[in-house]
Amino acid sequence: MIKVAVYCRVSTEKDDQANSFEAQQRYFKEYIDRKPEWEHYRTYADEGITGTSTKNRAQFNRMIEDAREGLFELIVTKEVSRFSRNILDTISYTRELRALGVGVIFMSDGISTLEPDAELRLSIMGSIAQEESRKTSARVKWGQTRQMERGVVFGRSLLGYDVKNGKITIDPDEAELVRLIFYKYGVEKKSASAISRELEKSGFRTRAGNTHWRRAYIIKLLKNEKYAGDLVQKKTITPDYLSHEKKYNHGEEPLVVINNHHEPIIDRELWNEVQKELEKRNLRGKYSSGHSNRYAFSGKIICGECGASFVPRCKKGAVRRWYCSAAVKSGVKGCGIGRGIRDDKAMEIMKKAIASLELNYDELIRELTILASEAVNSGKDSADKLRLEIERLNRKKEAVLDSFFSGTITEEEMRLMKGRYDCEIKALREKLGSISESCGENLREKVTEIVNGDTDRESFYRALLERMTVCKDGRIEVKLKSLPEPIAFSPF
Ligand SMILES: [Zn+2]
Repeated sequence: MIKVAVYCRVSTEKDDQANSFEAQQRYFKEYIDRKPEWEHYRTYADEGITGTSTKNRAQFNRMIEDAREGLFELIVTKEVSRFSRNILDTISYTRELRALGVGVIFMSDGISTLEPDAELRLSIMGSIAQEESRKTSARVKWGQTRQMERGVVFGRSLLGYDVKNGKITIDPDEAELVRLIFYKYGVEKKSASAISRELEKSGFRTRAGNTHWRRAYIIKLLKNEKYAGDLVQKKTITPDYLSHEKKYNHGEEPLVVINNHHEPIIDRELWNEVQKELEKRNLRGKYSSGHSNRYAFSGKIICGECGASFVPRCKKGAVRRWYCSAAVKSGVKGCGIGRGIRDDKAMEIMKKAIASLELNYDELIRELTILASEAVNSGKDSADKLRLEIERLNRKKEAVLDSFFSGTITEEEMRLMKGRYDCEIKALREKLGSISESCGENLREKVTEIVNGDTDRESFYRALLERMTVCKDGRIEVKLKSLPEPIAFSPF
C-alpha cells in the first residue's frame, strides 16, 4: 500500500461551502478510494483560498517535516498555484520531496512529479498562475489608487481621529491630547522624551490603551500630516504580489496626496513649526552619539571637583546655566564645587580658546572642516534622494502633459494630476531648501567664520569641543579635539 497525504487550502467563509474543509476532505477521500493500492495517511489543510495569500503555511511546513521523516510516499493536492508561495518554491519543494522518494500529484493541472516532464510542465503552469495573480493584484491596486485619489481613507484609526468606512472623523477628547502634545513640542520646546514622561505621569493613555508612551510614538505622531488636515496615502506598498509583504514606498510608486482633505486638529502654522523643530533637533542629533545633545555643551562641561557632567538649568526668561549634576541631585552644596557657568559665558570662552590658537590657524581650519563635513554628511545623503525624487516627479508631470496632448486624458484629469505633482514637488523643494541651508556648500568659509567668532552655530563648536572643565576656584580648562593640551582660563 502507498501512504498518501492530502494537502489543501480551505476557505473559512460560510458562503464558500465548496472549499470548506469537509467538502475537500470528502472529495479527496473519494479520489483516493478509487485507487486500490492507495491508503489515506492524513490531510494537511491551511487557510487561505482567496487572493494570492499563501502566508498561513503551518500545516504545509508540518507536512514537509513529516515527509522528511518518511511518514508517507505521495502527496495529492489540487492546484500548482495554491501549493506554495511561488513557482520557484514549488519546484524546489518537489525536487526535495522527489529526492526523499515522495511524489506530488497536482490534480487540476494533471501533473505528477514522478513523471519525467513534470518540472517543465510545473514551470509553465506556475508562470500562468503567477501572471493571473499579478493581474488580479494589479487590478486591485489600480482600483485602490483611484479610490485614494477620490479621498477614500485607507488605514487605521489614530490618536484623535476615527477612520471608518473610508471616512476620517475627529474624536474630540483624543484631539485635545494631540493638541497638548503639539503644544508641548512646538511652543514649549520640550523634548519628545520629556513629553512622554509627562503624559505617563498624568496618567494619559495611548489609543491602544497603554499607559506607557514611547518617545518614537510621540515623534511619529508629530510627523503625521493628518493632524494638519492633509492626507498622504500609499506610504507603504506591496511590491511582491505573491507574498503580500508591505514595504515603505521609497518613490517606487507615486504617493497619493490630498491637501486640506479633512478637518484639522492642529492649525497649519503650529504644524509647520513642529516640522521645522523636528528637522532642527534631528540634524543636531547627528553631531554626537549617545549623549543627550540638545545644546552645544550637553555632556561636554565637566565638574572639576567630582568629574560629573554639568546639566542645564533654565529659569523662565533667564540665560541658561550649567551646574554639576551631583550638586543638582543633592541640593546646592552637592560635591562642593559651589559654582555653575552661564551658557553665554561658556560660549565666550569657547570662542576665546579658538582665537588663542593663532599659530596653527590654517591647521585648525583644516581639522574643523573635516569634523564639520563628517557631521553634515548624513544630511547630504537625503538631499541627493530628494533631488532624485523631484526629477522623477517632473518626468511624471511631463508624461501627464503628453497624455493630455495625445488625447488620452481629459483637460480636467490633466489639471488634477498636474496639480498633485506640483504640490508634491513644491513640498520636496522646501524640504531640500532647508537641508542645503543647514549643510552649506562651502564648509571652509563657514568654518572660517566660526574660527573668527563670527557665528553662533552651536553644532560646529560642539563638534570641536572635547570637554570644558570648571574648577572650584573658577579656573576653566578647554580641551579641543584637535589639540593635545587643554587651554586654561583664569577666573573671570
Ligand atoms: Zn561636581
